[in-house]
Amino acid sequence: MTGSETRVLRYADWTISPERDASGHLLPPERAVQCKDCDAAYKSSEQIGTDQWALQHTGLTGHRRYRELVEAPLIVRPAPTNPLAEQETTS
Ligand SMILES: [Zn+2]
Repeated sequence: MTGSETRVLRYADWTISPERDASGHLLPPERAVQCKDCDAAYKSSEQIGTDQWALQHTGLTGHRRYRELVEAPLIVRPAPTNPLAEQETTS
């Protein structure tokens, strides 16, 4: 025990879903391709951009091994049964 510390723990429902902008459109995933031979990397919102970069990188360096990284924005929100849900819809 560490003195007078008090904690209240209770169960609440939460949801997780893709994040949207203020207009309700899904935020696009961010893409990156990274060379596994030298760690050079390139980011683009479209796969064609990362593919083209990798092809150019191979042409310049001879490196042929890559990893693609895709980051999809997610958001956690209180479920309708969560007491915080009403606070978030009124603010
Ligand atoms: Zn490389």
